This record gives sequence, C-alpha cells and structure tokens, in this order.
Amino acid sequence: MIVYNLACKQGHVFEGWFKSPSDFENQRDRGLVECPICGDCAVERKLHAPRVNVGAAPTSRASAVEDATLSDGNVHPERLAKALAAMAEFAVRVRENTENVGERFAEEARAMHYGEIPHRGIRGRADAETAAELREEGIEFQALPFPVDWPSLN
Ligand SMILES: [Zn+2]
Repeated sequence: MIVYNLACKQGHVFEGWFKSPSDFENQRDRGLVECPICGDCAVERKLHAPRVNVGAAPTSRASAVEDATLSDGNVHPERLAKALAAMAEFAVRVRENTENVGERFAEEARAMHYGEIPHRGIRGRADAETAAELREEGIEFQALPFPVDWPSLN
C-alpha cells in the first residue's frame, strides 16, 4: 500500500491509499477518487506532504534509533520518542487499512492481480524468492519497513 497526499480543485487536502502508483492513476481516471469534503473527483497528487504523516515514518527500527542519536553517541529521548511515535502511527495505519493474510500473501496478491477476487488492501509474508516471482509477474507491493503486527502472545 502507498499513501498519497491528494488535493481537489477547491484545495481540500486528504490522504488516499492505493496499491500502486498505477492503481491511483487508474482510479482517478475512472473518477473513483473523490474529495471526502466536497465530492470533487478532479483530484491531483500533491508531491510534497503538507504535514507529517505516515510518509514520514522512519525506514526501519535501526534508522529510527540512528535519527535519534546525537553526535556524542547518546540517544536523544525526545527524538527517539518522536521516531517511535511515527513508527507506531504508521503501523496503525497499515493495520487499519489492510487485512493480515499471513502466509497466504502471494496467493491472495495473485488472485487479485489476475482478477479472480476483488481488490482489497492486504498485508502478509512472502519469502525473497516468492517476492521476486510476484514482481516478475508485475504484481506491485511494498515491503514494510518494520513489522506492524505484534507477535501473538498466545
Ligand atoms: Zn474538495
């Protein structure tokens, strides 16, 4: 899933979740992307995020700690808290907007790609080999920068 900052002709700014850049273009061209405030379908992608959101999540746990580390090697507590909050927000957004299909990720992604089932947001696992196969088949997806599901404690 990718998040775009979108704006309608009236300048309302909102977020849209899409499977890929071409998914956005396709939906927009078919008039399926509408402003939640005024219903305008003439939406454009804003290249620069107007505020900090999911797009600003650190790329990994390591980078979050790195961003929060001062030149003397000490971790800056406020910076670390901010970075972790961004990660947590990202994880929540992904969880809220996708269904966890676990090991069935490749199967589900293929079924959607080949039109066997309707498109929906999914997340799950695939090994490197399977991921490469999916890309070869033209199936677009993104690797999550860090896990968004807590391990089950059961
Ligand atoms: Zn609008």
